[in-house]
Amino acid sequence: MAWSVTARCDYDPSVPGDETFADVLAANAAYACSFPHNGLEARAAQGLAVLTCERVMLIAHTDCRMTRREDELHAAVRDAGGPDTRDFVFLAAEDQEATVRADVELLRSSPYLTRVRVGGFRYDVETGRLNELT
Ligand SMILES: [Zn+2]
Repeated sequence: MAWSVTARCDYDPSVPGDETFADVLAANAAYACSFPHNGLEARAAQGLAVLTCERVMLIAHTDCRMTRREDELHAAVRDAGGPDTRDFVFLAAEDQEATVRADVELLRSSPYLTRVRVGGFRYDVETGRLNELT
């Protein structure tokens, strides 16, 4: 697949709301200006979780298969040559934004994370831009 470079510099570098993730969002906005990866398949290539001591960013992404119906996920696994998963529940969530908000609230209410600031975001796989949801 050919990658293309598309300039998307129509953003306001100031970030509204609280400043918890302003540095990350500003860096992301600059990154998205020359985002070279639009058109890639929306698949988690690294399966990576990044944890720090002070802030947690819970990040969903656009074009996520986990926003489809359970039967579509079972069919996708089958079509990819995988096992019969029909007795497995993927916990797919068609309302991705509501799921992010609920997960953020769960983390924020944890007695083990009282010093951690938590935010919910959606990464746009077409633009490289992070959008704050919570
Ligand atoms: Zn996904």
